[in-house]
Amino acid sequence: MPVKNDGVVIVGGGVVGLSTAYFLGMAGVASTVVERDSIGSHASGFALGGLSPVTGSGVPDVLEAMAFDGMRIHAEMGAGLPSETGLETGYGSKPLLTLTFDEAEAEAAKDAVARQQGHEGYSVRWLSSTDARRVEPRISEEALGGIHVEGSAQVDPYRFSLALARAAEGLGASIRNGAVSGLVRQGGRVSGVRVGDETLPCERMVIASGPWSSEASEWLGIRVQVGPLKGQILRLRAPGPPVECSIGWNGNYATTKPDGLLWAGTTEEEVGFDETPTTEARDRIMASLHRLLPSLGDTALARQTACLRPVTPDRLPLLGHVPGMEGVILATGAERKGILLGPSMGRIAADILTTGTSDVGIDAFDPARFE
Ligand SMILES: Cc1cc2nc3c(=O)[nH]c(=O)nc-3n(C[C@H](O)[C@H](O)[C@H](O)COP(=O)(O)OP(=O)(O)OC[C@H]3O[C@@H](n4cnc5c(N)ncnc54)[C@H](O)[C@@H]3O)c2cc1C
Repeated sequence: MPVKNDGVVIVGGGVVGLSTAYFLGMAGVASTVVERDSIGSHASGFALGGLSPVTGSGVPDVLEAMAFDGMRIHAEMGAGLPSETGLETGYGSKPLLTLTFDEAEAEAAKDAVARQQGHEGYSVRWLSSTDARRVEPRISEEALGGIHVEGSAQVDPYRFSLALARAAEGLGASIRNGAVSGLVRQGGRVSGVRVGDETLPCERMVIASGPWSSEASEWLGIRVQVGPLKGQILRLRAPGPPVECSIGWNGNYATTKPDGLLWAGTTEEEVGFDETPTTEARDRIMASLHRLLPSLGDTALARQTACLRPVTPDRLPLLGHVPGMEGVILATGAERKGILLGPSMGRIAADILTTGTSDVGIDAFDPARFE
């Protein structure tokens, strides 16, 4: 496996940047990941880690191929990364039960079931309230039923990020701490990346710095239209047996994670680059938890986290070449599904850099589409 640096610099040590380094390593290309804070210290370390290619924002739709590719890679990595790296990633099956509370929600959910069915390896069914209660007896009496998905999975995002980093290093990548503040051009190409007072020579560059990728607007001379959408999660000590399913409603969820804690979320807050947990969010998440699982009212807060999803104006990723700048790729904007999509985005970014093409269609994610 390669140990030389092949002139590729990746900005950002989140799941997208690390996956890019991993797949470049698999292709025999050594890269340098530059991370300003530490690996997985933002959304990639603090997400829920739910993995479902058949439900949620953007799928099934234009993101479908990437979502299934992400799922396939997660299954492979779930089996391979622990033995490759010595680090457990918490990968495993996690069924979903998305509840409805009024007739309109129930009708919309039944329509969605029809669209989401038919994928090999996945079962998507509408369950009446009685059947839903057989899956999880503690759900609210007010629930009218819900969508039950089998085939979905989960991972511990922080451990996954660490394992990815270690695996990428094993394939020749190097990871260094530093803040990228600009790039050096030679003609229409990148020839170096500014890290503090230093210039790292490079011929190719991947900007995978999550919501902060907009900082690259100045370096690139185009508007990189991505920004932060804050989300918060409570980790709770809850009474009774674990909640085995991920119980959801209207973008909120609750499930017991491998750490034994009940993780409940979430919020969507447009408050800029503020990652501070708030009491308002805590109260809102507790209210939605009571709506889903009223008997779990007696919980103790073990930890509250907040992090920032990278979000674009059309809520689709930015993935592909930067216009007018040879050798520079943007890979960000995975929003609420970045843990699922990140490995696929990294694989695609690596493919584009090494072969010039990708087997997953990315026209809809063209970084030039907002110009
Ligand atoms: C509450 C919450 C729950 C979520 N749950 C799920 C889920 O269940 N399933 C799912 O699929 N997704 C989930 N997500 C979404 C997912 O976490 C994100 O989409 C994903 O982590 C984004 O990864 P990234 O690598 O693009 O960005 P990040 O994780 O933000 O990584 C970017 C990195 O770049 C670094 N950086 C920035 N600027 C610079 C610079 N100038 N120089 C050097 N380094 C720099 C940052 O320090 C950071 O570490 C959730 C998100 C939130 C907020």
